[in-house]
Amino acid sequence: MMSDITTQTPVENFINGKFLKNNQPTLDVLNPADGSFISTVPLSSSQDVDGAVQAAAKAFIGWSKMTLKERVQIFFRYRALLERDMDELTKLVQLENGKTYGEAKAEVEKSMELCEFAVSLPQIVVNEVQEVSKGVECRIERKPLGVVASISPFNFPNMVPHWTIPNALILGNTMVMKPSEVVPLSTVRMAELLKEAGLPDGVFNLVNGGKEVVEAICDHPDIKAVSFVGSTKVAKIVYKRATSTLKRCVALGGAKNHLLVLPDANPDMTASNVVASMSGCAGQRCMAASVMVGVDKVQHIIDKMVDETKKLIPGDNLGSVISAAAKERIERYIGEAESNGAKILVDGRNTIVAGKEGGFYVGPTIIDYVTTDMSVAREEIFGPVISIIRAKDLDEAIEIENGSNYGNAAAVFTQSGGLAKQVMDRASAGMIGVNIGVPVPREPFSFGGWNESKFGVGDITGRSSIEFWTQNKKTTTKWNPQAQTNWMS
Ligand code: NAD
Repeated sequence: MMSDITTQTPVENFINGKFLKNNQPTLDVLNPADGSFISTVPLSSSQDVDGAVQAAAKAFIGWSKMTLKERVQIFFRYRALLERDMDELTKLVQLENGKTYGEAKAEVEKSMELCEFAVSLPQIVVNEVQEVSKGVECRIERKPLGVVASISPFNFPNMVPHWTIPNALILGNTMVMKPSEVVPLSTVRMAELLKEAGLPDGVFNLVNGGKEVVEAICDHPDIKAVSFVGSTKVAKIVYKRATSTLKRCVALGGAKNHLLVLPDANPDMTASNVVASMSGCAGQRCMAASVMVGVDKVQHIIDKMVDETKKLIPGDNLGSVISAAAKERIERYIGEAESNGAKILVDGRNTIVAGKEGGFYVGPTIIDYVTTDMSVAREEIFGPVISIIRAKDLDEAIEIENGSNYGNAAAVFTQSGGLAKQVMDRASAGMIGVNIGVPVPREPFSFGGWNESKFGVGDITGRSSIEFWTQNKKTTTKWNPQAQTNWMS
């Protein structure tokens, strides 16, 4: 049991309602805020995946026969348990991910909102029926797929699993979940809480590990659908591999979000929003600002952004990045930009927090005079770093945004509705902000990017997810023996 967050219990797989020891090699799980050891996580095998799929397939028989209304009752209770254990769940996210308490709490709150959408599904998923000719009815019913899988990244240990678990299960599927091996503790607690809420054994199964588990999920003949969230490199691998075995798949990838700042933008609001967007969760959000495109005369806003970064204290209101390797990668990007002629206005390299010397910290970093050919303009850095590219006008700014391979989010800061509308219409991204630095759609509006930020049809949450997690059964019935036989009956 992992409910005591100070316990260094090894993480175990959760299959058919039980935590199971396995003899696979393990990885150490570290607290990125100070580098200390927390636990170990097993690197499970394809046999472990198979065991979980078998349990899920068996559980599907009973679970899929329950009504939607019965299944949601469990998630009403589950949401209440998230609320009851909010503080503990928040601290668990903090412990394994290194973000601040406030950021971790916001994650758990978002998970509750995702449950609220899911428990409303009986109000939304109302099947269709029509008398198409005298005594003949056509109906469409949404049916679950069977055993499905969900694979998540390190940056939102609590929220991202909730993008899939409540909707997929309430719609009648059973699941094999593979959390990031870097942050496996939050999902262990979810398994415990789902059980406490009354979820039948085998409906939710947890298989820990890395690449081998993901590959086994993609290849398993009895898994019907795969949902993936992570980097674009792995999203492409997973999308290709899962669909090559004829599964449906939605795979969310990385991001390079552009914030277009116009000279008429409100200076204080813009500076604080841009800095909050690039530094929140230490820049490790797929919705984080990564490039600011400064249109024409915006020096006064950039000066304010520099002032804003002075309010960020690593180890206090700025959390750590996830690992020593992440810190090294982020600092390498800053160094490359500097040697290619960009100007480092605020430099977060070599940050050490007193008392947490083993932690992985990067201070807020602003890089100015970045050009579109530099790696900091094109690649996902995933740290508290923003690259400023100067543009002469809005057309050039939009062209820069459109030039990115990614397309998760884009935002514009302006007081002009007309100029904002141009960005709303022309930005090549799935989620747009107007004077909002992190334009995450709240439920029931769905989440998902464009271009190389997402592969597959539809978004991962909201109404799209209903399509993804179900298949339509179309039935035609005739109850009137006297009904004339016509061309179709
Ligand atoms: P990652 O791609 O390294 O890992 C994601 C998952 O894939 C993990 O469960 C991991 O075990 C597995 N994995 C890693 N390498 C693999 C391989 N070679 N083959 C098969 N599986 C593999 O991502 P991460 O570092 O955990 O998370 C950060 C990334 O996720 C960033 O790129 C971020 O933008 C992205 N992200 C995107 C969204 C979105 O909504 N688009 C949301 C959150 C995070």
